[in-house]
Amino acid sequence: MLARLPPLARLALASLVLVALAWAIFGRSVEDDIAVEPDTTDTTEPSVFGLAPTSGAGAVLLEGLVLPITGGEQGAWTVLTPCANTATVDGERLAGAHVVIDPGHGGRETGAIGPSGVVEAELNLDVALKAKALLEEEGATVALTRNDDTRVTLETRAAIAQALDPLLFISIHHNGGPTRTADRPGVQVYHQHQTPESARFAGVLFEQLQEAMAPFSDTWSGGNATGVRSRLGEDGGDFYGVLRGSEGVPAVLAEALYMSDEPEASLLLRDDVRQAEAQAITDAVVAWIQSPYAGGGYLPPLQATESAGGGGGSAGCEDPEILSAG
Ligand SMILES: [Zn+2]
Repeated sequence: MLARLPPLARLALASLVLVALAWAIFGRSVEDDIAVEPDTTDTTEPSVFGLAPTSGAGAVLLEGLVLPITGGEQGAWTVLTPCANTATVDGERLAGAHVVIDPGHGGRETGAIGPSGVVEAELNLDVALKAKALLEEEGATVALTRNDDTRVTLETRAAIAQALDPLLFISIHHNGGPTRTADRPGVQVYHQHQTPESARFAGVLFEQLQEAMAPFSDTWSGGNATGVRSRLGEDGGDFYGVLRGSEGVPAVLAEALYMSDEPEASLLLRDDVRQAEAQAITDAVVAWIQSPYAGGGYLPPLQATESAGGGGGSAGCEDPEILSAG
């Protein structure tokens, strides 16, 4: 009997049957289904970061300084100053952060200086500020151990990590020293010896940095230790002060490129290269959160045979004037 109906009528009849079926099954019309589509006016995607940790003491933000809280109360916080002195301050308290980025060196401690005139402390800060902005776009709360050219001791940097208790602490450096020609960027990432998540993030970051830098050149300079490893002091603990002092917080120290050699020295003067480095750091953080992937480039631990090169202590350190009154 259906076969005798004209095609259009058959289609109408079939549609009617389908609507009736839908009504019978779901108790509402097909039109209702369309009406309950999710509200598309809210286009914000949920952040991968969730709420920032608040398990540490927090830090006071004062004129660009991040001062880890060691005691006191609102209105009169006891804090550690950049030179690792104690001070009492009043200011906005940051309860916690997802990520703390540590731009190496600062103030009179310039770090390495490249043949192109590029200064490591400035380079580290620029990449850190870029990474902070990118991570904030991803929904992260981010604090830097220094926001300007202030000299900050290793003790205070590590105390900031402890006080803000982030998911990750990332110390940004650029390498100097003897190199050889390599066909891949000479990235080094150091992790805490006893912290599995520090090691895992180091492997993810290493791969992201190599991938991000590779398109900028065909030949690179690199040391003997391009890759991911821990570096141990004479006592068997972590060699680098920021990694040792931030124990309990997964922390890494990244030497993204050899700024002491070409082509890196010139490349690092370019804003797009530094932006790519910051993007790689951001991508690594997001990838580390989103999957259990362990990255690559792992090498055996390195036994330290030399000093860390000085710097980072409080000898001769002068706190910013705003703190010296207290
Ligand atoms: Zn450095």
